[in-house]
Amino acid sequence: MSSDTESDSDSPVFNLDPAIAASVCPGPEKATYNHREYIRHPGIHAAQDPSVIWSVGEEYERNKKRFWRCGICKRTKMLAIQNGTSSALRHLKKDHKINKQGKRIQLNQTTIMEATAIAAQTVAQIVTRFNANTFRYLLIRWIVTMHIALTCVESEIFRDWVLYIAPGLKDYLVKSANAIRRWIL
Ligand SMILES: [Zn+2]
Repeated sequence: MSSDTESDSDSPVFNLDPAIAASVCPGPEKATYNHREYIRHPGIHAAQDPSVIWSVGEEYERNKKRFWRCGICKRTKMLAIQNGTSSALRHLKKDHKINKQGKRIQLNQTTIMEATAIAAQTVAQIVTRFNANTFRYLLIRWIVTMHIALTCVESEIFRDWVLYIAPGLKDYLVKSANAIRRWIL
């Protein structure tokens, strides 16, 4: 595999998704597939044939024939590429949802709508489970029992922390110590 693929900005053919690149494991020098041994043949043809398949897999040889080993599959998968790389590209598309450009293939419209519906349902459940009064009570209890200054709620550091854990609390997290005082009294 050539290290040139790291400079992604000016690659005209493909631009490998870093998340995909992270899932690639280099193959062994000798790989066995269906009881046959294949020898790694690093980058000889890859240099002349820029393709995403060389970023996610490597070239192997057996009896002077060319093969491609998928670097994403956990178990060795060897595909003949004697007559072109389409079988390797098909494998990436079908088994790993990766296209020629090295990107994850977009989910189709129905799947997106289903996912959106599930997400909306989940959010609704979380929101109804959240009770502003309980939040105030627990915050006040913590402030009072730990002898924390009421002005802590005015601290950006405190707010950053809370809102990082739960951005949805933005509207419930008061900005002044006086508001807390009003809650307590
Ligand atoms: Zn694979």
